[in-house]
Amino acid sequence: MTKQRENEQCAFCGRRRKEANLLIAGLDANICDECVGQAYQIVSEELPKSKGAGMAELVLMKPKEIKTYLDQYVIGHEQAKMVLSVAVYNHFKRITAQQKDQTTGFAGKKEDADEVEIEKSNIILVGETGTGKTLLARTIARMLQVPFCIADATVLTEAGYVGEDVESVLTRLLQAADYNVAAAERGIVFIDEIDKIARKGDNPSITRDVSGEGVQQALLKLLEGTVVNVPPQGGRKHPEQKMIQVDTRNILFVCGGAFNGMDKIIASRLQTNVIGYAASATSQTIDTEKILQYIAPQDLRKFGLIPEIVGRMPVVTYLNPLDKQALLKILTEPKNAIVKQFVKLFEMDGIKLTIDPKVFEYIVDQAIEFQLGARGLRSIFEAVLTEDMYSLPSDPNARKLHVDVEYAQEKLSKTNIARLRVA
Ligand code: ADP
Repeated sequence: MTKQRENEQCAFCGRRRKEANLLIAGLDANICDECVGQAYQIVSEELPKSKGAGMAELVLMKPKEIKTYLDQYVIGHEQAKMVLSVAVYNHFKRITAQQKDQTTGFAGKKEDADEVEIEKSNIILVGETGTGKTLLARTIARMLQVPFCIADATVLTEAGYVGEDVESVLTRLLQAADYNVAAAERGIVFIDEIDKIARKGDNPSITRDVSGEGVQQALLKLLEGTVVNVPPQGGRKHPEQKMIQVDTRNILFVCGGAFNGMDKIIASRLQTNVIGYAASATSQTIDTEKILQYIAPQDLRKFGLIPEIVGRMPVVTYLNPLDKQALLKILTEPKNAIVKQFVKLFEMDGIKLTIDPKVFEYIVDQAIEFQLGARGLRSIFEAVLTEDMYSLPSDPNARKLHVDVEYAQEKLSKTNIARLRVA
């Protein structure tokens, strides 16, 4: 053995050739058998963590079970919950089928002429702000135990413009998944205010429309399913940053928007239809109060979403405005209803909070009068109870608190209620 070969050593632990059982030569370095063994152990422990093992098994619930779950958290919106349950069920059936194909090697037969490929069914939710669009998406994600993130369409811009690139949406999803790429790849993204990136007017503009169409085009790629280079910390892409590749094929996108003015678009279409197909259509009475229920993909196009985007969101559903009854239920019924939360907060200080049911009605009336919506219910409650939440924990004799309408009125009179309006 030449002197030079004898002096070769393991680049990891420093063992010389004669001290190791085996020294494997690489281009510029060597590694000994012991270090190979250790490296193998590390790889088999760490790789599954980043590639998906350790992820919660997908719980494939039936649509009816999904709806029952949603009922516990979301009041009303029967049609939307039903449509969503079916869409989510189909989406995850599709993913599990794919996983099975991969494990059985069925994926290799993709070329089969008669193989049915189930397409992804992203969802669009149309409804006034504060009616529960985000809540629906969030509840679904929690039920499925998949990563979930919310992105605001209004901050997104085409690459190269001031604002966030569409990839930033996936950065958030990765963060929600603790950078577990495989988990993120089957997560749910809620894109809020999708209506704000609609192109203005029905005519495709010749000049580039930075705020609208360009962003829609960029978003389209994500919705369709593609491999995207995502900056792990978000922000602008820069050459030194190491990108993480995320495949969006199995990410479920739920887009929400208030689509102000949509009622007129629907009404005008229905009106035209009525004229066009006179007898048969007029026999059906149209509920103009809840006109969103007639929403169809062509209305979204008319509003200014490009046809490709509309095509990629085949599930269109709506949320009606919340009426007094719905607001009352929101206050008390959901599993984590606002009232239940306050009762629990006081309970933690050993104080029993009781509330006269008339107070609920009073609070709902206030929320309606000041147009605070469902979000405002919490703020009003907060305002009613703030003083007690401040003082009672320091009061050794405090055991109970009863709130009736007079009490609520008195507390609320000290607050400028219009200030409680939340976006
Ligand atoms: P949107 O996304 O439509 O603007 P959110 O889902 O953010 O509305 O709703 C705001 C809050 O109002 C929710 O966090 C929830 O507390 C309450 N809320 C709204 N709609 C409902 C509903 N249908 N059922 C239960 N709570 C609701």
